[in-house]
Formats: sequence, C-alpha cells, structure tokens
Amino acid sequence: MFSVADRSVLVTGGSKGIGLGIASVFATAGAHVAIAARSQSDLDSAVTQLDDLGEGRVIGVRADVSDRDSCTAMAAAVVDAFGGIDVLCANAGIFPEAPLKTMTPAQLSEVLDVNVKGNVYSVQACLDALIASGRGRIVLTSSITGPITGFPGWTHYGASKAAQLGFMRTAAIELAPHKITVNAVLPGNILTEGLQDLGEDYLAGMAKAIPAGALGTPADIGYTAVFLASDEAGYLTGQSIAVDGGQVLPESPDAVTP
Ligand code: NAP
Repeated sequence: MFSVADRSVLVTGGSKGIGLGIASVFATAGAHVAIAARSQSDLDSAVTQLDDLGEGRVIGVRADVSDRDSCTAMAAAVVDAFGGIDVLCANAGIFPEAPLKTMTPAQLSEVLDVNVKGNVYSVQACLDALIASGRGRIVLTSSITGPITGFPGWTHYGASKAAQLGFMRTAAIELAPHKITVNAVLPGNILTEGLQDLGEDYLAGMAKAIPAGALGTPADIGYTAVFLASDEAGYLTGQSIAVDGGQVLPESPDAVTP
C-alpha cells in the first residue's frame, strides 16, 4: 500500500529543509525526483545526497517560483527528463521577519510573490503534465502560522500561508474532473536551515510549546506528502493536515506537560 515507486515527482524548494526531506522520502520510496531551487550549488549537493537513496532518477532544476516563465521552464525540464509529472510538491517558501509597523511594500511583495504566486505559477506550469498523468497529485506546503496560529513579526507570512489554502480549495474543485487532488500539509516547527536562522532562543521557546516535546523533522512532512500522493489518497482533496506534534492544541502554556 501507499506505493509511489516510479512516480515522477517535482519538489520546489527541494534543495534544503522540508523540501529536501520530502524529496528524500519520495526518493527512498522509489520515485523519480526532481528538485527545484535558485542556488545551483545547493541543488548539486542535494542531488548527490538523494542519488544514494533509491532506484529512481534524481535531477536538479534551477528555478525561481516567483517568476512565471521560470516555472514554465522548470516543468518543461522535468517532463523532458522523466516523460511527465505525476506529483507536484509546491513547497518553496520564505519567512523573513517584518514587524507590521515597519514592513515595506517590497517586503510584503516578496513574501506574497514567492509563497502565493509561486504556488499558483508552479501549479499552472505543471498542469498539462498532471492532467496527462491521469492521477495527478498536488501537495502544497502551507503552515500552521496563518491558517491556525499567529506569530508577531510574520503577518505577511501568515497571510501568504492562509492564501495558499484559499487557492487550494478552488483548485481542488477545478481539477477534480482531471483526477487531480490538491491538498496541503501545515508544518508546525520543523528543524530546517531556514528555521535555525531564527536563533537558539526561538527554537528552545518553540520546543516548550509543543506537546510532543520536540521540533519536527523534514521527513515528518515527507511521509505525509507521500501518503497524499498515493493512489490510496485519491478520494482526499481540498484538505489540510497539520503535522506539528500537537503544537496547535494547548489552550495555554500550562496545558503542555513538561
Ligand atoms: P528553507 O530551509 O529556507 O528552504 C527553502 C527552500 O526553498 C530552499 O530550497 C530554497 O532554495 C527554496 N526557495 C526559496 N525561495 C525560492 C524561490 N523564489 N524559487 C525557488 N525556490 C526557492 O525553508 P524550510 O524551513 O524548509 O521551509 C520550506 C517550506 O515550509 C516553506 O514554504 C515554509 O513556509 C514552510 N514551513 C516551514 C516551517 C518550518 O518550521 N521550517 C514551518 C511551517 C511551514 P533557494 O534559496 O536556493 O532558492
């Protein structure tokens, strides 16, 4: 059950963090995996890591998801290499801090361009291939921040992550006749390079707020993505799954058992 062997999978933001975790789980499960990101050197080292994991092929594709033409070229490169795309994990995203009082239009645009337009452009670019697949799967990486919770300094980010779910629900309806499902994973705090940049105090504070007692791993998100990509999840669409060690559950910090 839940086999994704031989499936062609594109993971945006797959060179690091959660995206690399998603790519690793798919590669281990025997899928052909394409990862996309802007830095060629990060792509090269990620491809080297992924190459050892499974029987499928692995490629890196340089792309900027905030640019529609770049997304078109990204999808074309994957179709060229693998003959099609069965699964798109639209995961690339950024989370720079910008307090509301001082946030500039450029800071707001950058987050919306990558996190929201990047999802839309990636899906549009892959759509013909996903339709041709006959069992296309789209898995968005949203967040608990925005759809469920808030965190000071990240209003623009929260708005972008909630916007992804609005996009998902209508896309799920539009694409259902093509047997394509569209779902979202909402990670809690997952230990990635990007999150580590927020500092030790942030990481320690977050760990205390998580009933499971620790931050999640990129693979935790990967396992959920593989399930959503499986044939067995074919009747599941337009839904979001929080993968957060129970972080959104406590009514107060006292509710978390140390
Ligand atoms: P990360 O470690 O900073 O990795 C981000 C990845 O996205 C990198 O591969 C990066 O490569 C790529 N990327 C960034 N901007 C891009 C662009 N314009 N075009 C193409 N690729 C781009 O971040 P992460 O923590 O893994 O986060 C990944 C996703 O999970 C994001 O959508 C984030 O919002 C979400 N998320 C993360 C957490 C968490 O705890 N870490 C929690 C909730 C949600 P390049 O810079 O080379 O392009």
